[in-house]
Amino acid sequence: MTSRLSRLAVAMLTTALATVGVTVANPAPASAAMTICYNTSQAGSYAGIANQAASIWNNATVNLTLSANCGSNLRIYQITGGGSYAQRTSLGNGRVYIDTQQAAQYSPLRIMTHEIGHILGLPDNYNGNCSLLMSGGSAGTSCTNPYPSTAEANRVSNLFAGTFSATDRSADIFRDSWPSVLTPVG
Ligand SMILES: [Zn+2]
Repeated sequence: MTSRLSRLAVAMLTTALATVGVTVANPAPASAAMTICYNTSQAGSYAGIANQAASIWNNATVNLTLSANCGSNLRIYQITGGGSYAQRTSLGNGRVYIDTQQAAQYSPLRIMTHEIGHILGLPDNYNGNCSLLMSGGSAGTSCTNPYPSTAEANRVSNLFAGTFSATDRSADIFRDSWPSVLTPVG
């Protein structure tokens, strides 16, 4: 009986030490890896493009995973008129609206990955550089690049590790990324 109790005590102590060891070896980040459940029930013809955009972000980043049909952190809507935009309620949460008229001029996949980029904490950067995703429509309708640059992707990864300021994670609305292209008359 004494021996059994001793073994039990040793086992409990070992477990306690192991728990302490794990805690010391792997301090928890400010925010743990986040699963962002996106919902395409209102995305109309852009549901498949939303899935492609999710894969692009998942392949480019760490600390977050966009996953379909598990909830509604991110709702994606197809709209007509008014412009594509993103409404972030907090980092990884919000709504993305894809305007069919803009998606007929600009690459729908680039619009989708860009707008999701806002939900993931990125601001606009209208410098006309097609290699950047957040340059949006400033790179022109001929720019169809749907991939974040290494710097853009790393910034998102760092945001979800909790290493950037709270302003990147605040509620915000991002509009006017995709200027209308005038059609020549006559
Ligand atoms: Zn934008």
